[in-house]
Amino acid sequence: MRETDWQTPLGEAYRLALAHLTGLPDRPVGSGKARPALGGPTPETPTPAEEVVRDLVAAATPGLVATGSGRFFGFVIGGATPAALAADWLATAWDQNAGLHATSPAAATVEEVAGRWLVDLLGLPPHASFGFVTGAQLANLTALAAARHEVLRRVGWDVETHGLVGAPPIRVFAGAGRHDTIDRALRFLGLGTGSIVAVEADGQGRMRVDALRTALATHSGPAIVCAQAGNVNSGSVDPLGPIVDLAHAAGAWVHVDGAFGLWGMASPATRPLLAGVERADSWATDAHKWLNVPYDSGLVFCAHPAAHRAAMSVRAAYLIHSASGDRDPLDHNPEFSRRARGFAVYAALRALGRSGVADLVDRCCALARRFADRLSAADGVTVLNEVVLNQVLVGFDGPDDRTHAILDAVRKEGTCFVSGTTWRGRAAMRISVSNWLTDEDDVDASVRVILKIAGERGRAS
Ligand SMILES: *Cc1c(COP(=O)(O)O)cnc(C)c1O
Repeated sequence: MRETDWQTPLGEAYRLALAHLTGLPDRPVGSGKARPALGGPTPETPTPAEEVVRDLVAAATPGLVATGSGRFFGFVIGGATPAALAADWLATAWDQNAGLHATSPAAATVEEVAGRWLVDLLGLPPHASFGFVTGAQLANLTALAAARHEVLRRVGWDVETHGLVGAPPIRVFAGAGRHDTIDRALRFLGLGTGSIVAVEADGQGRMRVDALRTALATHSGPAIVCAQAGNVNSGSVDPLGPIVDLAHAAGAWVHVDGAFGLWGMASPATRPLLAGVERADSWATDAHKWLNVPYDSGLVFCAHPAAHRAAMSVRAAYLIHSASGDRDPLDHNPEFSRRARGFAVYAALRALGRSGVADLVDRCCALARRFADRLSAADGVTVLNEVVLNQVLVGFDGPDDRTHAILDAVRKEGTCFVSGTTWRGRAAMRISVSNWLTDEDDVDASVRVILKIAGERGRAS
């Protein structure tokens, strides 16, 4: 091996990655070609690495969506801060297997440190356990596996040994405005979507406390309540304090899906919105959303470390399990071998600090309100939600087809990327402000384009 074997392809990757990042402000934000020219027959013979890198970049670029742009407002997709991105590159170069302490004391330790920092930053109970997973989908799965373990343990059933055949049934009380990853997690866990009791939501998508009270009153036996911090459309947060009170009085486990909304705990301004969240039993969130860590990076926390480990831990003769009390990451997540995601999370937290995370949350919320104020000032445009966090739902007068046409035209124009949804039976535009790069000029330029396009597409018809 020569030094240039590394230098040439990595140098090319660095040069081209930098060109991508610095070019973001000037390129259209929308998607390019649906199917970039990446095909061809199966390669029969070797190609030099630097050529592979150059060709890949050339072929992939037209199909890249500028999700890292400050004017990308689709779904809930954060950008990447420089420190997090750099640390993520190092995680790749170091190629650590973060499954065990023995396979990477550095990766295991950095997760332990970053996990503790997060518990503190998010105001969770100091004894909470945590796991680094791919995203909120797996965080929800992990937390609900811990919940399944604990609610069945309390009635004398060992689900890890005996599975669910013959087990007492578990009911899952979840808000009608829940994220679909809850349903999918329950499918994976063998509880099935049939275990869900959908609890009515209010006009903002928040679980109704009176409806939960009624639902719980008619139930006995093992129960899990799934609450939500941050509705994917409206950003609304369930009334967590009253939900925890009711659920715990009924002996239920409370899980909170806070994929982006849990970050509201990092700012004194938004913290009151989540009052009571710290009394739940488990939490899911994403570092790849509001913390702006590169994909993929999710986090699970659990107030019952023994249940968390009972659901996830694994022992195998050929592994070297830590005997000295060091934390083996694979006891806390569904993966076995795993990317060392902790480095990027650690770097993000170190670079931002407590004040920087709070500022990131506050800035996104303020910019969401700026969107809402400017758009709702226009004729025929209505902001449909209470803008409590970083999400704005926009309704346009006229039929749904007009809204769809506006969404398409805005994305084609390329200044910004917005996505759509159905909100209370009608088509709406969704705007999510989740990127550290977004500034007032980005918002104002996007508002101008949205209103211009809406104006061009008449109101009647
Ligand atoms: C985004 C989101 C999820 C899914 O998160 P992934 O990181 O895509 O797995 C789950 N719940 C809520 C509320 C979300 O916003």
